[in-house]
Amino acid sequence: MLSLNQVSKHYDNKKMRRGKPVKAVHEVSFELQPNEIFALIGESGSGKSTLAEMIVGLQKPTSGSIIRSEPSASIQMVFQNPDRSMNPYWRIKDIIAEPLILSKRKKQAALEQVSQLAEKVKLPLDILDRYPTECSGGQKQRIAIARALTMSPKLLVADEITSALDPSIEAEIMQLLLSLKDAEGMSILYITHRIETISRFADRVAVMRNGEIEALGGTNEVLFHS
Ligand code: ADP
Ligand code: ADP
Repeated sequence: MLSLNQVSKHYDNKKMRRGKPVKAVHEVSFELQPNEIFALIGESGSGKSTLAEMIVGLQKPTSGSIIRSEPSASIQMVFQNPDRSMNPYWRIKDIIAEPLILSKRKKQAALEQVSQLAEKVKLPLDILDRYPTECSGGQKQRIAIARALTMSPKLLVADEITSALDPSIEAEIMQLLLSLKDAEGMSILYITHRIETISRFADRVAVMRNGEIEALGGTNEVLFHS
């Protein structure tokens, strides 16, 4: 559904004092399959976010190509810090409905769809009339996922979305993603620096180090036989 060919992102950092060139991502190639959970792991600074941003189109590769067999609108991204993408003065239902309203759906129809989405991501319906500050971190990530689902994505890119959450909440969010993968038939690119959390969850794993893919394969193969 998406293929990366020798994708690189190099920064020359010439304008920075004592700036040195950085190969944030260097000649990365792999394919994402339909309906799989693909975990991208690696230490902080290894290039995971840069790669994710190129996949969703927020950044352009310096070289190489990314071929999407789906229109890029069907790729959605959820970030580590949900507050950055939520207007604190809006009610949750309006936050979730925003992409639908922007795509010129009638407001009433959009709001009806919001309750279905809330059920899908297992948000209590009374949350919909609240504001972001009245929601927990886990609930905010469910809200961000619900909003991403308004666009019926074929690929959901999740960049460290559970890294600020307690392990028990993290497990619940992963369970949710697993059920969405099955119910919606979508693929999930799950980015994390916490490798212990993905073993029961991901179909495949790629390990990044210094901008390159160091290992890639089935989860058990990569995590337990290297
Ligand atoms: P990760 O998501 O694995 O933490 P990043 O993709 O954020 O890694 O960063 C990879 C490398 O690229 C790091 O060395 C980082 O400092 C560098 N980098 C990221 N963005 C920029 C930028 N806009 N300008 C210069 N260097 C950058
Ligand atoms: P990291 O946690 O990988 O160090 P950040 O989360 O600060 O990096 O941001 C990485 C990139 O993603 C930045 O270019 C930032 O503009 C973008 N970004 C982060 N959160 C959001 C968001 N909620 N909405 C849009 N862009 C975001």
